[in-house]
Amino acid sequence: MKFMKKTEKIIEKINELAGEIGGDVSLMEVCGTHTQAVARAGIRALMPKNVHLTTGPGCPVCVTAQEDIDAIVSLALAGVPVATYGDMLRVPGHLGSLDEAREKGAKVFSVYSVEEALGVLEECPDLVFFGLGFETTAPMTAYAVKKGLTVYSTHKLFVPAMKALLNIGELKIDGFISPGHVSTIIGVKPYEDMGVPQVITGFAPEDILVGIYMLLKQIKEGRADVENEYTRSVRKDGNPAAYGEIFEVFEVVDGNWRGFGVIPKSGLEIKKEFGKYDAKVKHKDILDKVDFSKSRRPTPCKCGEIIRGLKEPKDCPVFGKVCKPENPIGPCMVSVEGACNVAYRYEKQ
Ligand code: SF4
Repeated sequence: MKFMKKTEKIIEKINELAGEIGGDVSLMEVCGTHTQAVARAGIRALMPKNVHLTTGPGCPVCVTAQEDIDAIVSLALAGVPVATYGDMLRVPGHLGSLDEAREKGAKVFSVYSVEEALGVLEECPDLVFFGLGFETTAPMTAYAVKKGLTVYSTHKLFVPAMKALLNIGELKIDGFISPGHVSTIIGVKPYEDMGVPQVITGFAPEDILVGIYMLLKQIKEGRADVENEYTRSVRKDGNPAAYGEIFEVFEVVDGNWRGFGVIPKSGLEIKKEFGKYDAKVKHKDILDKVDFSKSRRPTPCKCGEIIRGLKEPKDCPVFGKVCKPENPIGPCMVSVEGACNVAYRYEKQ
């Protein structure tokens, strides 16, 4: 009851501020866990008419480039044992998915953690781990590389993607509900030169509503600050030990993102001194033979535009008809953090 009263009060304040602002306001959440939390709690339906919530590139599986999916499936089909997180196994590429490669006899392991991958490595010394995700998962992969796990890295830094969204300018973004998990590692500072209102927000419905209220307050007052609503987990300096672990093993390179293409200085590749654990070096002979022109062919899937906030799942003609979680056509329907999967589970009428 107390919770309900507090929530009602925040919604009342959001409505007041939205009324005072008057014009349309577009706020983007850029974290897969926020995508799920917003939909599960029905937060969109609680917003005033002029406040629009869009979804950005926060799902790590969704932003993994098609070329990387095709590369890892090629390795598996060539006989290299591969391990990765469960959702990634079902993302289709032009050679099929890792799951389909397994059906054809490839050694493909689904793991929940790098520790589990290190366990598989004991039985399977040629194992390649398909590393994906942002600053939250990169420290664990770095740790595993130091323990001798060979990795195909698609790890990415998150802030460059937020800046790319602003620079591309396809979409009006008045404020970011900035990511809670990534911020526990990187802290507050990396967001500071973006010139747009931001609130680092937790994941309970009440956190998100307070984050939206704080964003509207900034917009009304003409401020563009980085505020931290998620103080119970995010410190100003983040987690320097975990952040440092990333750069011990990885170097920053241009990163290839689904939906964006190459974003400068947004990718993490294994440093030369750890080259013997870099699958791109170790299996160069196989990867050099992959025809990536097929990976770059346009497909009817709208994930690329959904990742950039330009379209919603319901704009895709096959959403919920042909494309469903049990028959996903694109990564946004595969991953539990993907916009299409989330919309199918929580928002489909
Ligand atoms: S519904 Fe399926 S095909 Fe359409 S954008 Fe989403 S993942 Fe792609």
